[in-house]
Amino acid sequence: MDPLLERIKELEAENDRLKVMNQSMPESNGDTSITKDDSSTLLSITINLLEKVERSEVLQSIVEGGVRLLGLDSGVLYLIKGNKLHLEAVTPPLPEDSPAEMRIANLNNHHRILKAIGTNSPLMVNDINLETMSEEEESIVKSRNLQSMIFIPIKAVPDITGIMIMGTIGRKYDFNKREIDLCHSLSNIGSLALQNSGLFEKLNSNIDRLQSVIEVNEKSEGRLKLLNRAIAQSPVSIVITDSNGILQYVNPKFTEITGYSSHEAIGKNPRILKSGYHTDEFYRELWETLRLGKDWFGEMKNRKKNGDFHWENVLISPMTDENGRITNFVGIKEDITEKKLMLENLISAKEKAEESDRLKTAFLHNISHEIRTPLNAIIGFSTVLNDQDVTEEKRKEFYDIIIASNDQLLSIIDGIMRVAHLETGQATLAEVKTNIFTLVKTLYTQFSPVAQGKNLAYKMTTNGLDENLTVLTDSGKLKQILSNLLDNALKFTHNGKVEFGCMDKGEWLEFYVKDTGIGIPEDEHEKIFDRFYQVDRSKSHIYSGTGIGLSICAGYASLMGGALFVKSQPGIGSLFTLRLPLVRM
Ligand code: ADP
Repeated sequence: MDPLLERIKELEAENDRLKVMNQSMPESNGDTSITKDDSSTLLSITINLLEKVERSEVLQSIVEGGVRLLGLDSGVLYLIKGNKLHLEAVTPPLPEDSPAEMRIANLNNHHRILKAIGTNSPLMVNDINLETMSEEEESIVKSRNLQSMIFIPIKAVPDITGIMIMGTIGRKYDFNKREIDLCHSLSNIGSLALQNSGLFEKLNSNIDRLQSVIEVNEKSEGRLKLLNRAIAQSPVSIVITDSNGILQYVNPKFTEITGYSSHEAIGKNPRILKSGYHTDEFYRELWETLRLGKDWFGEMKNRKKNGDFHWENVLISPMTDENGRITNFVGIKEDITEKKLMLENLISAKEKAEESDRLKTAFLHNISHEIRTPLNAIIGFSTVLNDQDVTEEKRKEFYDIIIASNDQLLSIIDGIMRVAHLETGQATLAEVKTNIFTLVKTLYTQFSPVAQGKNLAYKMTTNGLDENLTVLTDSGKLKQILSNLLDNALKFTHNGKVEFGCMDKGEWLEFYVKDTGIGIPEDEHEKIFDRFYQVDRSKSHIYSGTGIGLSICAGYASLMGGALFVKSQPGIGSLFTLRLPLVRM
């Protein structure tokens, strides 16, 4: 049972006891017995005490009740603390000039008090002035003009001991059995009321403690809410796992990035995000670092729920309990996919710029050679043309060389001009009605002397091509592309054959130049369309050229809405295909 209720029950029992006593008593039993009035006064004192919970109020009520009950003039109540008596309640109030020992007195100077407490029973003195007194007692008695006195010990568990002293002022009173009985009851009621108030005090201090605990809780709850909001609205993903790495919490950003809701993610292993990009060693190193209680920081490629990949900057920290045992891991992850992409683009742009620079240097080197060769021929042979010793036949030969070198020079300069045009976006189309069969045939014929000169089989195919097919196209640029392809095929072929032709593919026109020449390694297939690029060949055979022909061809093909493809194998040969949209006229 609640200790407070228990005490109240005890007080009620005491009341009942008094009531029974009262009923069994005769109306009046002379001066020596408890009267009916005494009982009802005791009852009202008890009820009054029941209502008080403050210790000072309880003590004051006991004293006032006692004085009233016994019909005396004054009363005090001291509590004993060590060997001192502390005044706790008094009636009537003390005058200002009361001696100090009225308020705090030395227990050892009051042998009557010591006796009453020692025997735990009331002690009565009919006339104190006839007794031997200590100086302290005498000073108190005199200051209050006390005469008859009664000492009632009050004891309340666990540690309250006090004494109530009541008396008459300037008149003598003969104490008898009535007073003794009343004092016993008063002492019991007082003790219970004191215990009661002690319990209330304890209860109050418990309530205060509870209140402060609640306040602390409320404060930490507020902080927790704030923290929760910060995590929930964080611009980075935050995940918390248990010590086995199983997901316990993911914030909304995690869901936004990965596509996994917290419901789907919690309880799973973060393995669900594995992209397969990193090695087992990578993950082993990560877990080893964490198990040592250290933070792990690095970049990770992960897979989203929809299968897309994304890059993250990841910081994982182990969390430990008060014994240093790892209880959780907290991961903070920033999506760096875009940053990474930008970086990759920057790196490739830088590499391209470097490559372009390298190509330009190589081009300048080549071009100077390419220009110098015809220029030297022109200058050299022009100076000997006038020499008297040169025969007419030789003069004619020199003259032809000068003309050929001139053409070569012009074609190089023309090539450079075309590249510049394409690069600055100035190249435009000049579309005209063109008979394709005638164009192919003419080109074929133009190059046939070169093929013959190199002893190569040379063939033209126009399978199914209508000889009257007329299309709208930039015939100049088309001729330029095909001439370049034929020129290359004949240049890089030493045995076998060169084949050239065109096919009508409905929506497309497909031209091709096929050779059994030296071929191009697979990894160079794309690069040969870059400006100034030349395949690095063995030094045993030096090929003339500037590396700009194919870049012009590819540029023109795309300008004309088509494309240029290559298939080639070193030592077997090459096949260049030009595909153009077919606009029939
Ligand atoms: P170049 O003036 O050097 O011929 P191109 O742009 O026309 O410049 O060609 C680029 C490079 O592609 C050539 O240097 C050559 O290495 C390679 N190439 C082009 N056509 C052929 C081919 N038919 N057979 C082998 N290699 C070829």
